[in-house]
Amino acid sequence: MRKIKLFLLFLLAKRRAFKTRRQLLAYQNKRLRIFFRWLRKNARYYETYTSFSQLPIITKQDMLDSFNEINTVGCTLKDCLAQAHRMEQTRDFNDTVSNGISVGLSTGTSGKRSVFLVSKQEQNQWASIMASKVLGWSLFKSNRVALFLRANNNLYETVGQGNGIQFKFFDLMRPFDQLVSDLLDYNPTILVAPPSILKEIVKALQSKKIKISPGKIFSVAETLSEIDRIYLECFFNKKILQIYQCTEGFLGISCQYGTIHLNEEYIRFDKKYLDENQDRFMPIITDFTRKSQPFVNYLLDDILHEYKGQCRCGSPNLAISSIEGRQNDLLYFQSKIQSHAKTVIYPDFIERAILACSVDIEEYEVRRVAQETLEVLLLPNTPKIQIQVRKALELLFDKFQVVPTKILFKQWVKNPSILQKYYRIQNKLDD
Ligand SMILES: [Zn+2]
Repeated sequence: MRKIKLFLLFLLAKRRAFKTRRQLLAYQNKRLRIFFRWLRKNARYYETYTSFSQLPIITKQDMLDSFNEINTVGCTLKDCLAQAHRMEQTRDFNDTVSNGISVGLSTGTSGKRSVFLVSKQEQNQWASIMASKVLGWSLFKSNRVALFLRANNNLYETVGQGNGIQFKFFDLMRPFDQLVSDLLDYNPTILVAPPSILKEIVKALQSKKIKISPGKIFSVAETLSEIDRIYLECFFNKKILQIYQCTEGFLGISCQYGTIHLNEEYIRFDKKYLDENQDRFMPIITDFTRKSQPFVNYLLDDILHEYKGQCRCGSPNLAISSIEGRQNDLLYFQSKIQSHAKTVIYPDFIERAILACSVDIEEYEVRRVAQETLEVLLLPNTPKIQIQVRKALELLFDKFQVVPTKILFKQWVKNPSILQKYYRIQNKLDD
């Protein structure tokens, strides 16, 4: 029965694969109008707004501040936080807060936690979208999906239940050796993990001189940097695809050419552009399928690099060439031209400059540790590579016309805990 239901949802999801952008936007506008009418009646926060264009932009903090008025299932922030903490303690993620509503937590940039709610129906819908986008027609073959995640949620297991798809959640709280040995037994057809964990898996497999060959490999939850993408693609001998998914929703996925397409059949994306060339933007999302906790005009912290032109796959959905990281991690420098102005140098410029220095660079990290100091962590951290990296960064400062910053070199060391998200470029300053 469940299989038939999922099949129908899958067909419905497939039907929403529009051929032209015009068709896609017409559908989106129609759904938005219906959703807005529903929203005004059901979410206290929105009852006084008369048109979609009046709606305020909601930040992560606004969502927390007005959580009780925004959600439409009568949950309070206090109860949800208590429930989510209980689940993290017991590692039992199958509990619900009320009437089949699941609650989850995510860690924000400054350690601030945000709460998200999903209903049973939303879980099923999420599962059908995920199934149609991740598995495609291979949904009907037997698949073994391995998920390496820092926190599970019963959301992920919904896709697999009773559908001939096996889903295995690898809890990163367990010793990594055990996880790798379980992974070998499981022999997944699809492997989903953050890139820093994929790298750890590769290193463990290399040390055992074993290979696994999943049909598809997806990077999630962290920025896939160029250095990691190349490393992983060399080992697995296939394209590393990306799932752009966060607590706020399933936002996009790579096509076979590696371009990420945003899920505009379910979510409207507005853009807050960050640069004059309009290459980079922060997405403002309105998910017109999610009702228990509406995400409407919700500003995400991510920086997306727009793909200009038409992707070869022919998808009319907005195309993203990369997810460049978080806005909070942007590195600002004192402008040489205007005395009090700051100029940003985006992560991909810094990454490319460093990687172009030497093919011997295995790992790097760049951290803003003080207003006038950048820490550059390298592996290997040899004097020769240091000279090359310093020169490359100074050329970059010159190009962007910023005052050169002091650079301190350090030996790169592995992230002390795999339970923490890994960022190669980080702003450690508060402001
Ligand atoms: Zn494409």
